Amino acid sequence: MGLNEELSKCVHCGFCLEACPTYVITRSETHSPRGRIAAVKLGINSEGLATCMFCRRCELACPSGVKYSDIITAIRKPNLLEKIILKMLENPKSLVSFVKPVLRLEGFSPLEYEDEDYDIVLFPGCITSVVFRKTVENALRYLKSQGYRVKIFNGCCGLAHAHVGEMERAKQLVGKLKEVQNKPIISLSSNCSAFMKENGLDVYDFSEFIVKLNKDLPKKDIEVTVHEPCHAHLLGLDKYTREVLLRMGVNIKESEEPSFECGAGGDYFLFHRELSEQVMSVKREKTLKSGVSTVVSTNPSCSIAFLKMGLTPVHVADLIFK
Ligand code: SF4
Ligand code: SF4
Repeated sequence: MGLNEELSKCVHCGFCLEACPTYVITRSETHSPRGRIAAVKLGINSEGLATCMFCRRCELACPSGVKYSDIITAIRKPNLLEKIILKMLENPKSLVSFVKPVLRLEGFSPLEYEDEDYDIVLFPGCITSVVFRKTVENALRYLKSQGYRVKIFNGCCGLAHAHVGEMERAKQLVGKLKEVQNKPIISLSSNCSAFMKENGLDVYDFSEFIVKLNKDLPKKDIEVTVHEPCHAHLLGLDKYTREVLLRMGVNIKESEEPSFECGAGGDYFLFHRELSEQVMSVKREKTLKSGVSTVVSTNPSCSIAFLKMGLTPVHVADLIFK
């Protein structure tokens, strides 16, 4: 469907407003999905177009089926710094030196691993590979314990590129992963899993793989709350995360609105610090309503947001060995 057709589906009803994190914190039409769509329709270069977090919560709320992501990706263009960051994401090794000064987190070299005659591909996702290397190690250990021969594919799925309107490049990156599509691909970053699925890749989110192939799981006597990463939530992938936790006997304490945006918005928090911090503050409050501070988060930028909030993010792969 073309841009104009997508725009014409919006009837300006406003059902999407309360779903939108930037509207929730600003109460400004400019920073709402409806306002952004109106700006694109009228050809206005509204500041709201830059403040969209690309969480796509508005799409779930919209009764008219407006695919907002097709609108925002069609009109966005990356700035120079964003272009540089995108290049680094494509080669996670080059991200390591960027992580410490900018994210104020420890960066690690991505784990490289390939068994002879591997039968599955483990895709950590660019940020997970350098910020949450322990998660990659745990996922590899788990898959090996289930008898698989594994190859790790370090790279970027293209979601970050789509976020700033670089759809061509995003599709090329998904295409690179299609080269290893002859083996099942298991992704450790849920929003990347969703993006790859939407772009024609037959990929499993880590928990989805465990559930669908009925893999062994240990029992864990632990209390957590669950965060539902935005793009993964749109595709319903969080049901697999919850299923794995239930099979492990983990005690899930519900937060308020677990799919509410974490505030990171990919690299959004680097460019819109104030708005990002405000969203994180709302998310922190909603999360703490669960009564626990350990948050199961299966997407790396969300996990970084939880670290910034002073909470403890944990991936399913880490819980298995906790
Ligand atoms: S995007 Fe959908 S929910 Fe939002 S104003 Fe338009 S039609 Fe209504
Ligand atoms: S993608 Fe998220 S931030 Fe952007 S308009 Fe939709 S709900 Fe709001």
